[in-house]
Amino acid sequence: MRTQVAIVGAGPAGLLLAHLLDRAGVESVIVETRSRVYVEARIRAGILERSTVDLLREVGLGERLDREGDQHRGIHLHWPGERHHLDFVDLVGRGVTVYGQTEVTKDLGRARDAAGQQVVYEVADTALHDLDTEHPFVTYTTDGRSERLDAEVVVGCDGSFGPSRAAVPNPVTWERTYPYSWLGILADVAPSTDELIYAWHPDGFALHSMRSATVSRLYLQVPHSTDVADWSDDRIWSALDARLGLDGWTLRPGPVTEKSVLPMRSFVQQPMRHGRLFLAGDAAHIVPPTGAKGLNLAVADVALLAPALAALLRHKDSGPADAYSDVALRRVWRCTHFSWWMTTMLHATGDQFDAQLQRSQLQWVASSTAGATGLAENYAGLPIGF
Ligand SMILES: Cc1cc2nc3c(=O)[nH]c(=O)nc-3n(C[C@H](O)[C@H](O)[C@H](O)COP(=O)(O)OP(=O)(O)OC[C@H]3O[C@@H](n4cnc5c(N)ncnc54)[C@H](O)[C@@H]3O)c2cc1C
Repeated sequence: MRTQVAIVGAGPAGLLLAHLLDRAGVESVIVETRSRVYVEARIRAGILERSTVDLLREVGLGERLDREGDQHRGIHLHWPGERHHLDFVDLVGRGVTVYGQTEVTKDLGRARDAAGQQVVYEVADTALHDLDTEHPFVTYTTDGRSERLDAEVVVGCDGSFGPSRAAVPNPVTWERTYPYSWLGILADVAPSTDELIYAWHPDGFALHSMRSATVSRLYLQVPHSTDVADWSDDRIWSALDARLGLDGWTLRPGPVTEKSVLPMRSFVQQPMRHGRLFLAGDAAHIVPPTGAKGLNLAVADVALLAPALAALLRHKDSGPADAYSDVALRRVWRCTHFSWWMTTMLHATGDQFDAQLQRSQLQWVASSTAGATGLAENYAGLPIGF
């Protein structure tokens, strides 16, 4: 098979890149290890920044998002005995939209079908070749057959465990592994809050989020290597109640439909390009989910990369492609810092000095317009290309 851009990975980065390239008149083929059903049901992020929503609308993907997405003006910051609402719309003129990554992925899959473009699901043995030539190619097996996909450019959108990242020789990498994980649940119960609650508590962080009017998403800070089997539904709801509790407010428990443990880490690899290979999304960087940035960063990367590849392949203008890594990394580091800042402000470390500093910082953010505005500007998102 031959195409202009071979994309490895059909997560949000790969699917959106294919959609943007198609609109720019550039052909692509995606190869993906998982099945379409699996990819579209994978529960992950759920908060879309304004720039992500604007882009999805601009490229014809806003219809269901506008109908079903839930507009939030801000978040609640909580610590024992106190809860404060930060109104991002008042502070920085924009809020966020709650719309699950599963829904974004389904919308992208349908757009790909409508354009009659190809995603080869359930491949194995993906390997990248000749990346420092103008004729790179990807090999894989499907239904027991070996296949070769020739291209002019390969884009690694294959997340943190795919092969693309390792195909960049001698990268510079930065990594921070935080000494805790999140235990996340999905529950078939109406959210007990209008907007997300981020809670600091001496027992550990808790987050009350939601996916719809009838489905809640909640998280608890837990030690690394936590076994979900040790957390019965009753234990989870009682820990959430202790950490999120407030006089006059009730947490509604409900049937838990999914439970998983997510280790918290930050990772950045530089450069996001080697020859005719470009990296986008989690293939190049990971953020802890406290700042709700992972999905938005993947979108911002491909929003920069698609026009750069169109300029390279259609007009032989290599300028934007040459600048891609540096421009994308500016935003990556801003989001990496914000995600680290939210994480370290909200997670218990067991150290009493840390706890005092965290409480002081939370007080400041909740009571000072300057403090609240910094959080609001970063959380609601900076423009793509910032
Ligand atoms: C468990 C989990 C929970 C998360 N929760 C949140 C959250 O609550 N909030 C938040 O903001 N962010 C969250 N994130 C982060 C967010 O979901 C990611 O940042 C986002 O999915 C990045 O999109 P992507 O397309 O770059 O990568 P991915 O979504 O990881 O997509 C990569 C794709 O590449 C495919 N692939 C991998 N290897 C190969 C191969 N060898 N060949 C072909 N295809 C391959 C994978 O199957 C996958 O479909 C979470 C991430 C994880 C892992």
